[in-house]
Amino acid sequence: MTGLPEGTGKKLGLVIDLDTCVGCHACAVNCKEWNTGGDLVPLADADPYGTAVSGAWLNRIHSFECRQGEDTRLVHFPKSCLHCDDAPCVTVCPTGASLKRAEDGIVLVDEDRCMGCGLCAWACPYGAREMDPAAGVMKKCTLCVDRIYSEDLPEEDRIPACVRTCPANARHFGDLADPDSDVSRLVAERGGIDLMAEMGTKPVNKYLPPRRRETPPPVRAPAETGEGLTGFWKWLDGALEKLG
Ligand code: SF4
Ligand code: SF4
Ligand code: SF4
Repeated sequence: MTGLPEGTGKKLGLVIDLDTCVGCHACAVNCKEWNTGGDLVPLADADPYGTAVSGAWLNRIHSFECRQGEDTRLVHFPKSCLHCDDAPCVTVCPTGASLKRAEDGIVLVDEDRCMGCGLCAWACPYGAREMDPAAGVMKKCTLCVDRIYSEDLPEEDRIPACVRTCPANARHFGDLADPDSDVSRLVAERGGIDLMAEMGTKPVNKYLPPRRRETPPPVRAPAETGEGLTGFWKWLDGALEKLG
């Protein structure tokens, strides 16, 4: 069993806005790109153009159709490690490979000590850890620790790759232990929530819930909904509908 720090000086983490995320996957792709190209945690992709693709991604986007009365909407849900304060993935680790840093709260894997037993993945209620099929060790979001402290990068790039790339400004990074930080203010203003708080993991990352629509979308006549269209026009109507 591995110990957690008594407290952490900072609580670095992400705030993800489910109201503005458009599910474009740019964050996931840039996460993969940064972590594949860098030295810290190169990520495997096995048989990427074949039928049995396998590999490790540290950030995945899931999309759900949600219905509230007449109002149906698609909610895009980016998922990566939440850097929990009471991280069961750390306390379950038999080798000390899974750790939470006292100075900034980031949860990391020491790959030299990881024996690939997979206990941490079993313990994480968010499915945030992935076994790298090539390296045989666990991989997870590092909060881009190699970017945020890098003196080789320009100041504006010293933020996680996913935050830097999000075109919808749905991802924010900062110190959630500081009540005056931009991320803490955002959480206070928008009622940011802990994901699955009932699990007792005390996640540092927060999710901003989708805003309620003031008025439900109007019920449209069949002509407007594209009923009766065929072929390309039907496809185009459907595609525009999804975009709109
Ligand atoms: S890049 Fe931004 S908008 Fe696109 S999926 Fe990621 S969080 Fe959502
Ligand atoms: S989200 Fe999962 S992997 Fe990340 S710190 Fe929490 S329990 Fe560990
Ligand atoms: S912080 Fe870095 S490692 Fe974590 S999801 Fe974002 S890009 Fe990936």
